[in-house]
Amino acid sequence: MSNENSIPSATLSRLATLYQALLDARSRDVECLNSAQIGALIGIPAAQVRKDLSSLGEGGVPGVGYRVTDLILGIARCLKIDKKRRFALVGAGRLGQALASYTGLAKMNFELVMAFDNDPAKIGKHAGDALIEPVAEMPARLKQEGIKVIVLTVPASAAQATADAAISGGARWVLNFTPAILQVPRNCIVRDVSFTNEFAVLAHYMEEG
Ligand code: NAD
Repeated sequence: MSNENSIPSATLSRLATLYQALLDARSRDVECLNSAQIGALIGIPAAQVRKDLSSLGEGGVPGVGYRVTDLILGIARCLKIDKKRRFALVGAGRLGQALASYTGLAKMNFELVMAFDNDPAKIGKHAGDALIEPVAEMPARLKQEGIKVIVLTVPASAAQATADAAISGGARWVLNFTPAILQVPRNCIVRDVSFTNEFAVLAHYMEEG
């Protein structure tokens, strides 16, 4: 799927980081912040803050700065997290269970509503609030519930087949925690997530001192 007209993903990542920092600021009753203060919250220069915020049409007021509540709404609209989205978990093992029980996803308006596994011992139990259902029924169940987002936490060897099955059930957006490189149709988007790779990057920087 082409992203030619959309905001660069690096900007979207910064906006997501900023969004969380602003929620935190609001919980501390902070009403206004200037670009330098916002930059300090997430460790980026003030000029970058102004550039990012202007890309979503938010201009600060001279001498006052940006209103925190306005920014939160503006960023939520830009990231499209201003409405609830439901997703399914595929693979209710160690990582899947950890993700399912993480309450912080609600901040981004994502709700886990179904989970699938192929282990008979897990079926009928729960991952977070979601009932674990047989993966063989996944395509039909996704279609039935209109779920188009999946989080993939199966072993790498099962990743492509389970992604294919989910896509046949109408899934189009995949958060892929497995190390598998997935082949998907052009109308689908896969985001690969690896905190294990981050350890390798960290090791590289450690050697540099
Ligand atoms: P796990 O073995 O605890 O969980 C895997 C689950 O998938 C199990 O519940 C298993 O029954 C289920 N499963 C197996 N085959 C299936 C299939 N065909 N259909 C449906 N369910 C199936 O493993 P884990 O430690 O939770 O790791 C899960 C995945 O996440 C692995 O691919 C692992 O490499 C990856 N992982 C990624 C990161 C990261 O940084 N991205 C970190 C840890 C693990």
